Amino acid sequence: MVDIKDNFKPVIGISVNIEEVDKEPFLGEERLNLNKNYVQAIIKAGGIPILLPFVQEEREVQAQLHLIDGLLLSGGYDIQSTLYGEEPHPDLGSVYPERDQYELTLLKIAATQNKPILGICRGMQLINVAFGGTLYQDIAQASLSGQLLHFQRARSFVASHTVELTARLYQIFEQKSMMTNSFHHQAIKNLAPGFQVNARTKDGLIEGIEKEGNSFLLGVQWHPEKMIEHHPMMLKLFRALVDQAKELRKYSL
Ligand code: MN
Repeated sequence: MVDIKDNFKPVIGISVNIEEVDKEPFLGEERLNLNKNYVQAIIKAGGIPILLPFVQEEREVQAQLHLIDGLLLSGGYDIQSTLYGEEPHPDLGSVYPERDQYELTLLKIAATQNKPILGICRGMQLINVAFGGTLYQDIAQASLSGQLLHFQRARSFVASHTVELTARLYQIFEQKSMMTNSFHHQAIKNLAPGFQVNARTKDGLIEGIEKEGNSFLLGVQWHPEKMIEHHPMMLKLFRALVDQAKELRKYSL
């Protein structure tokens, strides 16, 4: 007999971007968008993706969270520097404060509810900021010795630099190092209290973090969703999120 509890698929909410349309006929209109590969990654990993548009009231965020078993914070614009106590540096990129506010509320409530959370690129940076960490507004400020190229010019699925894995990322990928793509001009400066680094490049930059303890609150700086087709092992990260969401949901069925 098949156990119904083992047979269902958990719902994973994915945060989205907002962009202004730059050509006619809808010039200047705002549009929510998300690269399709995030959605495909969740489906491939055995989850059901739904997109989460911005809402303002906390109870509306609660209602959205009620629908999902896990959360994926997607990539996008820079985070407003004042959110981590810094005035904007000339190299800070575009910011979109409404998205920052919404995602911070979403993340904090989801974490309180112990929902599994995966942050990608900006998503990882948001996790760090939400829990009291800071960012380099531009990696050039980091003054690392032997600094590497972190905004690759190769195609998006190309693995361009090595990351050393520890902690949960080591458990998930079952290897001590691997190659990833890299598309970021910002990075974590001070790690949020209660977190540990689980991936680093050879120039010392933080490429992955996780909250200490048993919860699944984890972020990576690279874009695994862009690599799955050419590097199927990247699916393991999405499987870990979906499996954790499924595991926790079992108890409430
Ligand atoms: Mn990188």
